[in-house]
Amino acid sequence: MTKFDNIKVAFADKSNLDLTRAHLLFKTISNPIISKSLTFLVKILLWLRLPISPIIKATVFKHFCGGTTIENSQNVIDKLWKSHIGTILDYSAEGKQTETDFNNVMEETIRTIKKSEREVSIPFSVFKFSGLCSFSLLEKMSNNDILSEKENLGKEMFLNRVEKICKFGYDSKVPIFIDAEESWIQDIIDEISVKMMKKFNIHETWIFNTLQLYRKDRLAYLHKILSDSRKNNYFLGLKLVRGAYHEQEIKRAKEMNYSCPVFTKKEDTDRDYNLAIKLCIDNIDRISICAGTHNEKSTALLMDLMNESNILKNDKRVYFSQLLGMSDHISYNISNDGFNVVKYVPYGPVKDVLPYLIRRAKENTSIAGQMGRELTNIIEEKKRRKS
Ligand SMILES: Cc1cc2nc3c(=O)[nH]c(=O)nc-3n(C[C@H](O)[C@H](O)[C@H](O)COP(=O)(O)OP(=O)(O)OC[C@H]3O[C@@H](n4cnc5c(N)ncnc54)[C@H](O)[C@@H]3O)c2cc1C
Repeated sequence: MTKFDNIKVAFADKSNLDLTRAHLLFKTISNPIISKSLTFLVKILLWLRLPISPIIKATVFKHFCGGTTIENSQNVIDKLWKSHIGTILDYSAEGKQTETDFNNVMEETIRTIKKSEREVSIPFSVFKFSGLCSFSLLEKMSNNDILSEKENLGKEMFLNRVEKICKFGYDSKVPIFIDAEESWIQDIIDEISVKMMKKFNIHETWIFNTLQLYRKDRLAYLHKILSDSRKNNYFLGLKLVRGAYHEQEIKRAKEMNYSCPVFTKKEDTDRDYNLAIKLCIDNIDRISICAGTHNEKSTALLMDLMNESNILKNDKRVYFSQLLGMSDHISYNISNDGFNVVKYVPYGPVKDVLPYLIRRAKENTSIAGQMGRELTNIIEEKKRRKS
């Protein structure tokens, strides 16, 4: 019996209908050909403006998202909290382009902070830099390119938005996660995140940056910011993930003929992820972490290291986090065991959340015919209920 084997606990709040929907969904997206064809078809149907949103909403959206607004995500928030699992409301509208869009994303993020300030079930807020600024400007800033007058104005407005969110989180006592993105815009994300940590993490940790351990340079970067935080007296907040843009990173490096920034062997990513966890726990006096992972071995390792270092299970410097609709066997079992668990609950208009849903479909497509862990667990629970 491992730490996550109790399937009954994992699916305690799922009705038979929820299980059947999840079974059909994971069975469909686990087939690479069907998954790719459906993704393509959905994009075309949306482009043709055919009314397919209700179908998406009743299926894949219902499984992976809280709702279209903060208000109608409440049921999901309450359901998770019944199992002492917190929510991070993730406004997942991607691909925004105009200053008005960026201001709307900022206002929406501030609404999530206000909600979190009122509710113990929502311990963090989160945002992405690419929701507050055009991707091309983020890329130029990361490259230290010379900016035009208009771009400089765009940069100023973007920096104001980031600062406003971080200050609002700090004033409201709501810690803020900053998501990691593609490596070619990550330098500016890191630079500004560290600035925000230096400003707001003086006595406690309110701002968290994200490290993607599939990147070959992240362990060295972790050592660098750790020594900087000790030298300059601020606390580090870090969300540790493996990374969501693996294919794109490899493809771009090949196309543009530069050295690939990410590992191409899974075991290298796993090794660095686990080393990063260890380094953070060894420096827990300075670092607060959130392990954003569905990997059982990394989760078990963090649980064991906490135990060995006499860190209480509910110490607020350590959180475990999974995405809504994924790895409930981990979330529910470790929450049941007393650890701090929080789920990313994406929400937003169906059309805007689509890139997020496509990433989830890709992540759950089976490799070489192997059945995904989600599907295996659902089938087991269905069998258990029958017997
Ligand atoms: C709470 C939470 C927050 C997240 N925030 C972010 C974020 O801010 N930015 C972001 O990029 N992602 C983010 N993610 C997504 C996360 O990166 C993916 O869910 C994660 O990569 C899946 O990995 P895993 O740790 O669950 O473990 P596993 O399923 O064991 O690992 C899969 C991952 O390993 C890596 N990998 C796969 N094949 C190879 C290979 N051949 N060589 C090297 N590496 C390989 C890839 O990163 C792949 O995604 C977040 C996830 C969670 C749960």
